[in-house]
Amino acid sequence: MSILTVGTVAFDSIETPFGNAPRVLGGSASYLSLAAQYFCPDVRLVGIVGGDFPEEYVQLFRDSNVDLRGLEVKEEGDTFHWKGRYHYDLNERDTLDTQLNVLVDFEPTLPEDYRSSKIVCLGNLDPAVQRHVLEQVDDPEYVLCDTMNYWIEHTPDSLRETLTLVDCLVVNDSEARELADEPNLVRAASIIRDMGPETVIIKKGEHGALLFNGSTVFSAPAYPLEDIEDPTGAGDTFAGGLAGYLVRARAYGSQELRRGIIYGSAMASFAVERFGPGRLLELNEDLILERARAFRELAAIPKLQAFETA
Ligand code: AMP
Repeated sequence: MSILTVGTVAFDSIETPFGNAPRVLGGSASYLSLAAQYFCPDVRLVGIVGGDFPEEYVQLFRDSNVDLRGLEVKEEGDTFHWKGRYHYDLNERDTLDTQLNVLVDFEPTLPEDYRSSKIVCLGNLDPAVQRHVLEQVDDPEYVLCDTMNYWIEHTPDSLRETLTLVDCLVVNDSEARELADEPNLVRAASIIRDMGPETVIIKKGEHGALLFNGSTVFSAPAYPLEDIEDPTGAGDTFAGGLAGYLVRARAYGSQELRRGIIYGSAMASFAVERFGPGRLLELNEDLILERARAFRELAAIPKLQAFETA
């Protein structure tokens, strides 16, 4: 089984209350693929970078066994560059600058082998490009999609079109509210589901995630970390872990999605421990399983008795 990830491969320049990191490796496809590869040996990346993209970053994907045949290098262009600043409340961030650069006229053609991919992760990217990629996949079993306020505001109609093709949308709470034009998250999820995705996952940063699927809601906690250095990429890492687990499970029902959310949350909790994707590069199955099990403990609610006998 294979996972196709498409999204940005970026330079991120990040400011947090704990420090700055200029031009570190970032981008939705980077975090997605680096997380998913722990679960699946066949992770394929689709993206574009400029001639300024350093060999050392390329090597980092290679060392992680990510298939880069779908990474276009446009020598005469510059790599996508995002600048963001986090507040003391790390759930709050301002985008200071987005330079699309080589992304402006990115129209990927998938390598022939990629067309057979089974799970497709449409990472945060122009929704028209997300569609263009999806149309080239022969028979995807499950399509996950992420987006962000930038695309909700700049290309709303195109995003709506993409959503009609998606099985599971993964967004954060403010994006869900903006997309649905509804402040209440339960109602927002229902409005978004009417746009196409059967399943909606709403991430709430350090407050966990909500899964809306079938007629049920599942609430996953977030791991209470003492040291968070940089939340960038947490959302994409979450989606990568979720997709990775789903490939392993080879099923997309409510139980698999619930477990997948826990694995996604575990991966995201590692990603935020360090600036850039560095922490994601040094994990192994035991560490991931140990963290995922800690989530079970976190949410273990004892049996509830009637008040009289408590
Ligand atoms: P996350 O923190 O998971 O929401 O994603 C952060 C990543 O998204 C960063 O590594 C950025 O490079 C990337 N990013 C920022 N803005 C955009 C955008 N408009 N489209 C696609 N990716 C973006």
